[in-house]
Amino acid sequence: MLSTFYSKQLAIISNLEHTNLSKPSLYLQVAVPVPMRQLFTYKVPLNLQTPSIKLGERVVVPFAGRQLVAVVITMSVCCEFDENKVKAITSRQQDEYIFTDSQLNFLHQCAHYYHHPIGDVISQALPVLLRQVESVDIKKVKLWQACVENNTDESDEPSLVDTLALLSKRSPKQAQLYKIIQQHQGITWAELRILGFTKTPLNALVDKNLIVAKAVQPQAFTWHDKQLNQDNKLALTVEQALVVSSVTQKLNAFSCHLLEGITGSGKTEVYLQIIEAVLAQSKQVLVLVPEIGLTPQTLSRFEQRFNLPIFLHHSGLNNNERLQTWLAAKQGSAAIIIGTRSAIFSPLINAGMIIVDEEHDSSLKQQDGFRYHGRDIAILRARQHNIPIVLGSATPSLESFHNALMGKYHHHQLLKRPGKSVEAKIELIDMAVQQVEQGLSASLIDEITQTLARGEQVLIFLNRRGFAPAVSCQECHDIIHCLRCNKPYTLHQEQRLLICHHCGSQKRVPKQCGQCGSVRLLPLGQGTEQLEQRLAEMFSDYSAVRIDRDSTRRKGELAKLLQQVSDKKHQLLIGTQMLAKGHHFPDVTLVAVLDVDGALFSYDFRAAEQMAQLLTQVGGRAGRASKPGKVLVQTHYPQHPLLQDLVNNGYHHFAVQALTERKLAHLPPYYYQTLFRAEANYPSYPDKFLRALTAQPLNGCEFAGPIPAAMEKKAGKYRFHLIVQAKQRRDLHKGIKQLLANIKQNPWHNKVRWSLDIDPQDLSW
Ligand code: ADP
Ligand code: ZN
Ligand code: ZN
Repeated sequence: MLSTFYSKQLAIISNLEHTNLSKPSLYLQVAVPVPMRQLFTYKVPLNLQTPSIKLGERVVVPFAGRQLVAVVITMSVCCEFDENKVKAITSRQQDEYIFTDSQLNFLHQCAHYYHHPIGDVISQALPVLLRQVESVDIKKVKLWQACVENNTDESDEPSLVDTLALLSKRSPKQAQLYKIIQQHQGITWAELRILGFTKTPLNALVDKNLIVAKAVQPQAFTWHDKQLNQDNKLALTVEQALVVSSVTQKLNAFSCHLLEGITGSGKTEVYLQIIEAVLAQSKQVLVLVPEIGLTPQTLSRFEQRFNLPIFLHHSGLNNNERLQTWLAAKQGSAAIIIGTRSAIFSPLINAGMIIVDEEHDSSLKQQDGFRYHGRDIAILRARQHNIPIVLGSATPSLESFHNALMGKYHHHQLLKRPGKSVEAKIELIDMAVQQVEQGLSASLIDEITQTLARGEQVLIFLNRRGFAPAVSCQECHDIIHCLRCNKPYTLHQEQRLLICHHCGSQKRVPKQCGQCGSVRLLPLGQGTEQLEQRLAEMFSDYSAVRIDRDSTRRKGELAKLLQQVSDKKHQLLIGTQMLAKGHHFPDVTLVAVLDVDGALFSYDFRAAEQMAQLLTQVGGRAGRASKPGKVLVQTHYPQHPLLQDLVNNGYHHFAVQALTERKLAHLPPYYYQTLFRAEANYPSYPDKFLRALTAQPLNGCEFAGPIPAAMEKKAGKYRFHLIVQAKQRRDLHKGIKQLLANIKQNPWHNKVRWSLDIDPQDLSW
């Protein structure tokens, strides 16, 4: 629909061009990067009308006293406003980086689905350098190449073979780097950095004339067989072969595939062989990975297989590198783009396939501003390009799982590991029958000691996410429940209140346990910081390393730490779920999860799903064929049905059960949700603002709340939630539209900061 709209617009413009009269007035409706749900009209001064303006072009406009870069969405020759009041654009960014119809169409669909201002959506899709008013000086991409022959015949020069032999003895790092560049002629520095190299060996190789960097003129890649390196290509197992043939059968039509494969079942090999088929058509492939999922191991597998330009997109790149990836996508020179969620906006000129690895991962959802889900809009995008999309995971999200079971997605399973290695078994440690010392059970301490003594590594998870403060009795382990909903109450520390996040009922925190009378009532899942300290003290003979978002903020830090782990510089690894993804630690034979109880009794219905995903993923990280691994989980509730199901029957079975529960409880994926968040300096404002929203009945929709957020006060602001949900997405969509249309009449709307989250993933804040 939108594209026909655009072609009409184009017709108007070309008619204008054919009249030889002096140019008439021209008005642009542009998207401005501000949080307002509208386009803005500007006129184009005569001197800026040639060459003719194109839709999707960037122009500079005056806006509220500033100059901003805006994108042209429509044009017209007449204007519905008072012509004298319409401002003129300041200038045009005359470069070739304009959005195509199809990109604009995609961004419009995103804005529409998420009810988000189009200007902000477009601005997210533009690299920072193209959002700047000053014109950009684009540095050419430098691609590294290895010299494969000596360039002189003079006999006093040692032969390349001799040089390399010497190199691997004297400077193994340089030799390693040379080998990678030789295997993948035309690799970028951004890739080498992820692989863990520094500039020192790079410069050393340059000085030795062993490698050179070529600044290349971007041009679309074309496939030839030499670009495929067959050396490490594996003969597929039957399971794998079935997936590859099913996906590659129809490459030129939309289809969505869920690849559910246990950890280590060879999903990456499946991706590689599917990608091969797409590249062979000279089409581009986009691979989305979790925020820290771009591991050296994975990247080097891609590089060793395909001798074609691979471009990266992630938070570790500088603005120029990001722009280069964007351009390489647009100009067709990038064959493969591997990136985190916002890579979905890469303007691929010739898209052939999208792969979303670890599709259940929460980092695919943007948690502020434009709150899109990378996986969901990837599906939208694949549909638009009419190409296949593959969602892969050992632990699919219940949403994708449901769609697969309903037959909306092709469902493929990899149930076996190709080699001899087996998944580690999860064992529960019943904390009730254990000597517990500051959160560590005697059996766990024992196992850690033994593992370290054998010279193997231990990985310890502090499960921070998915936690919500339910209150439990330290003696009988009873959880305080709302009697009306039979759901745990959530502790609101600030007010010393228990609030049910299902019906909103409140009560004071009791002094004694209702079951056994004990006064030892405490929130679940506390004290992970002390635990960590305690571990380090207890095993002070060994080196402990902490890997989480904070310890890896600096560029290259994660690669460095991971390298140290694989060099066995550390024996004790402590981390959050960030470590559960994609990394292979062959010498880790014991994984311990210290506390899962918070997730079992959270008001956030996704907490249990996330816990199950975490446990299953970490199970896949422990051990290998020669050294089988173990996963130990500490809990006060070993009989909890969800835990039992997971431990005895595995994730797939757990997921089926969890879906049944969701269905009964009218929760996603059976119901669709939208979350309004509001905050202000006084608690009554957000409460009243959200309450006023519930005053208008919405067809087919129901409200839950308003209730205080689990973290009800942050940075001096009081925060409240309102959930709107419906059985039909259509009803929810209409309802939200209606609420937004009337929101300015809400007497409290200027007193609060509010935001909208379509398909919210995290209800804890
Ligand atoms: P996943 O991504 O599913 O966790 P990987 O693709 O990393 O699994 O594969 C796990 C291991 O199995 C890797 O070492 C890989 O080389 C090996 N592997 C994968 N497919 C095969 C195959 N068809 N034959 C032999 N080994 C395989
Ligand atoms: Zn009790
Ligand atoms: Zn209740």
